[in-house]
Amino acid sequence: MPTLDVNRYRVTGGKFSLSSVDPGDVQDWKKGPARERFSENKEAIIELQEKLYAEGKQSLLFVFQAMDAGGKDSTIRELCSGINPQGCRVSSFKVPSKEELAHDFLWRIHQQTPAKGMIRIYNRSHYEDVLIVKVHGWASSQLIEKRYGHINDFERLLTDHGTQVVKVMLHISPEYQLEQFRDRLTESRNWWKFNPDDLTERKRWDEYMETFETALNRCSMDEAPWYVVPSERKWFRLLVVSQVMRDALERMNPQYPEPSFDTKEWTPERLESGHSGLPQALQE
Ligand code: ATP
Ligand code: MG
Repeated sequence: MPTLDVNRYRVTGGKFSLSSVDPGDVQDWKKGPARERFSENKEAIIELQEKLYAEGKQSLLFVFQAMDAGGKDSTIRELCSGINPQGCRVSSFKVPSKEELAHDFLWRIHQQTPAKGMIRIYNRSHYEDVLIVKVHGWASSQLIEKRYGHINDFERLLTDHGTQVVKVMLHISPEYQLEQFRDRLTESRNWWKFNPDDLTERKRWDEYMETFETALNRCSMDEAPWYVVPSERKWFRLLVVSQVMRDALERMNPQYPEPSFDTKEWTPERLESGHSGLPQALQE
């Protein structure tokens, strides 16, 4: 199996350019080995998630952002399948409701942060408030400018309280997006995925890329990094995203808690010899 370098996709230094990551990149990988490694990563994630849940002291927040058809939905589906649903939740952030708009932009986000022991995945996030909102000019540039700071403070607040924050942009080209839209229109069972409004957003592609770049540079921190993941090959996207999640969980290094009873006293043999806790009548 080739080696996988995910560090090259990590945004550091404040001068990151999206053009430095080819959305079609697969390093030296081919589909077969990538699938195999993805399965291994999934196994590891499932085990680490159980420990995280049992330990109950830390949590993981995994954020996805992408242009339409970037593969957020299918990546989240594949990443979550097999994880104990009691320990993992997904939050999707759509156009804010009237009530949400009546509050600050982090209000609805903070309500969905992971509790100790949990993994939470965001399908879109507070970054929409410095992406689509900026591109459309729905907030003043002064406010947008302040929001980068608000986001960094908010994410630091979470990390200070035991939440590991990792953010992933699924990176595609406009040509790839068009291909995906075409596929959605070709099959009637995929029509529900097509939204003509996506074509309006698509016209602002360059503005979006510039806006993404600013957000990535302003809000990638050591304690809450951004990764830009080449996403035009589904199997490579899954390989990288699963590796980034596995690495994050391994860094957290969750441990099963110490037993709350004396393991020398409470042995399986003791249960077999009548100490089942049932009333005497039932034991006979
Ligand atoms: P799908 O893959 O199903 O299309 P989606 O995430 O694109 O999933 P939609 O309901 O199509 O879901 O789109 C949600 C829309 O809400 C996106 O265009 C997104 O930019 C927008 N949105 C999300 N958060 C905000 C926000 N805070 N302010 C304004 N628009 C937002
Ligand atoms: Mg959409």
